[in-house]
Amino acid sequence: MTKDLFINLSKNKVLNSGAQRWGMQLGAKSVVAGTNIEEMIESVKEINAQGISCTIDNLGEFVYEKEEARQAKEQILAVVEAINSNQVDAHLSIKPTQIGLDIDYDFCLDNLTEIVAAADRYGIFVNVDMENHSHLQPSFDIIDEISKTYTNIGTVIQAYFFRAEEDIQKYNDYRLRIVKGAYKESEEVAFQDKKDIDQNYIRLIEYHLLHGKFTSIATHDHHVINHVKQFVKENNIPNNKFEFQMLYGFRKELQQGLAREGYNFCTYIPFGTDWYGYFMRRLAERPQNINLVAKQVFNK
Ligand code: FAD
Repeated sequence: MTKDLFINLSKNKVLNSGAQRWGMQLGAKSVVAGTNIEEMIESVKEINAQGISCTIDNLGEFVYEKEEARQAKEQILAVVEAINSNQVDAHLSIKPTQIGLDIDYDFCLDNLTEIVAAADRYGIFVNVDMENHSHLQPSFDIIDEISKTYTNIGTVIQAYFFRAEEDIQKYNDYRLRIVKGAYKESEEVAFQDKKDIDQNYIRLIEYHLLHGKFTSIATHDHHVINHVKQFVKENNIPNNKFEFQMLYGFRKELQQGLAREGYNFCTYIPFGTDWYGYFMRRLAERPQNINLVAKQVFNK
């Protein structure tokens, strides 16, 4: 019920544009690493200093105007330059709908190709984030197309989808981030029960750890993390075959603790003014995240 409320709020266009005008109020500051590249790079440097790498998301999604998608692409190209000129340990996370997937398939393909080519020149990896079900297949198709030329591209498998098991086998050769899934999906395409999603999540992680190239386990769930630690030990999977990932601002002590234990760790760094949809999805996943709002408001 609460989850549905926040998912619906995340798609509200009027509130989204209002939120951009109001700035980083309502607690978004604690989970968004700045509104511009300079602020974001400062956050990345601080996190890198703790032995943690970063994946950078220039916030934005569900763009329906070509000009807006072009501006997003230019901004992401500027992020590529900033990663290189500051020599930070970071790669990119990109949502296809931000750079035109809802406008025109070829337009999005061209935009993403340009970004992947620019990143490739500096040896920077590009992760294509996965969005809701209607964007899944076209996103995979674009990745397939680009990977004919470039190898610095990977993507995400969302464990709530029934098709995830087939996808993980098909995309076994990619560097994959495995998540539970953040969007509201219908019972025709996705598990609805948390227990089913959690079970499938573990199955997919184990499969890719055993058979894949490199696995990013992206979760705040300590049960899953503890299971993975045990699994890699029992199966002699070396640390350079996987990493843990969490979102900026969440479970900071656990993030730092895992890095100190010697695991590869990567923090997902969202930045920019278009934070509203991202923030609402975090509230949908875990209404307790509202605590972050309260802290932000009262700690001013
Ligand atoms: P949950 O299932 O939300 O929580 C499980 C348990 O973990 C909770 O019951 C609690 O015990 C503990 N827990 C969770 N959060 C906290 C907390 N903040 N503090 C204390 N305990 C906590 N989704 C997509 O659909 N596409 C993507 O491309 C995508 N990329 C992602 C990238 C990263 C780095 C991360 C971390 C998530 C990404 N997601 C993505 C979101 C993901 O799909 C989940 O919606 C989200 O991570 C919530 O699930 P969870 O596994 O973290 O744990």
